[in-house]
Amino acid sequence: YLHNLVQELKGNIRVFCRVRPLLGDEVSKSAGHICFPSMDDSGIALVKQEESHTGRGESKPLRYEFSFDKVFQSGCSQSDVFQEISQLVQSALDGYNVSIFAYGQTGSGKTFTMEGPDGADFSPHTEGVIPRAVKQIFSAARQLEPKGWNYTFRASFIEIYNENLRDLLAGPRAGKSQPLEIKQAPAKGSGGSGGSGAAAAAAQLTVTNLLYTPVTSEAELERLLLIAKGNRSVASTAANNRSSRSHSVFQLHIRGSNEATGQQFTSQLNLVDLAGSERLDKSQSTGERLKEAQHINSSLTSLALVIMALSNKEQHIPYRNSKLTYLLQNCLGGNSKTLMFINLSPSEDNFSETLNSLRFATKVN
Ligand code: ADP
Ligand code: MG
Repeated sequence: YLHNLVQELKGNIRVFCRVRPLLGDEVSKSAGHICFPSMDDSGIALVKQEESHTGRGESKPLRYEFSFDKVFQSGCSQSDVFQEISQLVQSALDGYNVSIFAYGQTGSGKTFTMEGPDGADFSPHTEGVIPRAVKQIFSAARQLEPKGWNYTFRASFIEIYNENLRDLLAGPRAGKSQPLEIKQAPAKGSGGSGGSGAAAAAAQLTVTNLLYTPVTSEAELERLLLIAKGNRSVASTAANNRSSRSHSVFQLHIRGSNEATGQQFTSQLNLVDLAGSERLDKSQSTGERLKEAQHINSSLTSLALVIMALSNKEQHIPYRNSKLTYLLQNCLGGNSKTLMFINLSPSEDNFSETLNSLRFATKVN
């Protein structure tokens, strides 16, 4: 009861902070690291020794304080993180639309958080939110079968790059001739969410020419995730680390029905690895890079504005200002649940981007 009350007061938007460890040469580099003393598990301070310009050791530390729904310091494991969100993931099986985002500069740990580490470091121990969520959903679905629940799952995986959508589950040549487009179909009369959950009976959004691949097991889904990973990295080498300058949106579309009770619902689990939030030096970037930076900047700003408008309970929510918010329109607001990870680097070199990410967090928190 208390939990629900707190939930109601706070709305359905959570912001978690995750600090990655120092990596490789960051440890040995003289630059050192930013200090993140935690105040408690929901507060964090950002402390940096200010450079002493007098040369007489009169430096005083810069200190900024921020609060979050939860803070994961650099020692936290993937399973520590998932433990905090497993209930949220589970609620997709109760009919809620759930979206989880990772926000931060390139190299701050977004992909590590959402997917896990690359290559040989990937293991059941180190895997991230997406594979863990998929496993939990399938195992929970099996447990609910004896109660009469029957679920069907379809997966889609989209990359948004320069406000263009690309199907990460399609072959490399697919989509070239048939662009993906977000289409809004009028709401279907009374159909939809009669279940225990609360997926909004809003207009249906579909993406034309997108593969919505039926999946019946975690093994099938893992195979799809590998295809998406392959598709992303092919494009990356071709276009100089494009994956850090695009949003990737994994969507699990769930339909649940209970033959015993007649309940039915549809819901969606969206797991989003956002484009790197770093600001480009405008004086130095031109052409393609400048265009990319402008698209990223405007879509991250749109996301923040949508979340702010929702938490202020404004009449008009500006979903249509970016492809990302348009695509997720039905999953942001209403009874939907949203979680934003703010991923941070502890390296002193990244101080100004880190401060920037923390300021973004205060906007959406
Ligand atoms: P991003 O996706 O934000 O650009 P990555 O997830 O690729 O950043 O992380 C950058 C590097 O840091 C990768 O080598 C990744 O494995 C490592 N890393 C990130 N977070 C952690 C963590 N919590 N623990 C250990 N290594 C991490
Ligand atoms: Mg990444």
